[in-house]
Amino acid sequence: MDLTHVTSYRCPTTRAGLGLAPGETVLGGGTWLFSEPQPATTGLVDLTALGWPAIEELDDGTLRIAATCTVAELVASPLLGPLAPLVRSAADAFLMSFKIQHAATVGGNIALALPAGAMISLTAALGGTAEVWTPDGGVRREPVAALVRGVRRTSLAPGEVLRAVDVPPGPRAARSAFRRAALTPHGRSSAVVVGVGDRVTLTAATTRPVVLAADRLEEGLAAVDCWYDDAHGAADWRADVTATLAREVVRELAA
Ligand SMILES: Cc1cc2nc3c(=O)[nH]c(=O)nc-3n(C[C@H](O)[C@H](O)[C@H](O)COP(=O)(O)OP(=O)(O)OC[C@H]3O[C@@H](n4cnc5c(N)ncnc54)[C@H](O)[C@@H]3O)c2cc1C
Repeated sequence: MDLTHVTSYRCPTTRAGLGLAPGETVLGGGTWLFSEPQPATTGLVDLTALGWPAIEELDDGTLRIAATCTVAELVASPLLGPLAPLVRSAADAFLMSFKIQHAATVGGNIALALPAGAMISLTAALGGTAEVWTPDGGVRREPVAALVRGVRRTSLAPGEVLRAVDVPPGPRAARSAFRRAALTPHGRSSAVVVGVGDRVTLTAATTRPVVLAADRLEEGLAAVDCWYDDAHGAADWRADVTATLAREVVRELAA
């Protein structure tokens, strides 16, 4: 849709251009920004000309996923190796079509912080750490599982830009399992459970990512205090379904 309040558009090519003026908002793929009115936004600052490589392998084996990497670029990356099936499952968990996956970015998905944010499910489960550029020119790092604090709520302060998510080498090579439930076959995710190594990560059914130890699953499930309740499922149903999926994931990881 047209964003009728927007009167400026900038496309910086260096970090120096990322300082946001009042009313400016950063633009990733724009799939959400252009999907509903944004009366508080008068200017867009497009991140896509910064030239960040979509996916890089760092010297220590860390996989660096740029915030501007699209879902489609991530799925197609030859650097994924054994992670490829898990990434594919996460991409398939989106309600969005393949056309939108070519525009939607990993950073935009995380920054938006919807419970059904499949890139949150994926990167939190992989123990990903977000690199955040602060407006004073600094950098801070925080696990994705902690950065996402609730429905449409993150730790990102005004002017902070998510630069990348780093996935460490250990989880990249670990065994993984993925389960998803939705009220209709192509509906928005109501529950997503991802197991990687000895961790089980719950999303979609919870207002924020919840990471549990696989060997203390029942104790962890009993302690969850953030079951989500919306049109895509009641909280008690989500808790039941998630518990079933999580037990399946633990069995699969152990098999
Ligand atoms: C048909 C359809 C289906 C969808 N299905 C789903 C779904 O199943 N699950 C889901 O989670 N979402 C869904 N969405 C919403 C949205 O498309 C996705 O969350 C998408 O990943 C957002 O990424 P984007 O790059 O388009 O973000 P944008 O629309 O560009 O931005 C989203 C928000 O993040 C901020 N932002 C973007 N990049 C950064 C950054 N690097 N640092 C800081 N802030 C940033 C923007 O300022 C904005 O507030 C759907 C949208 C459509 C149209």
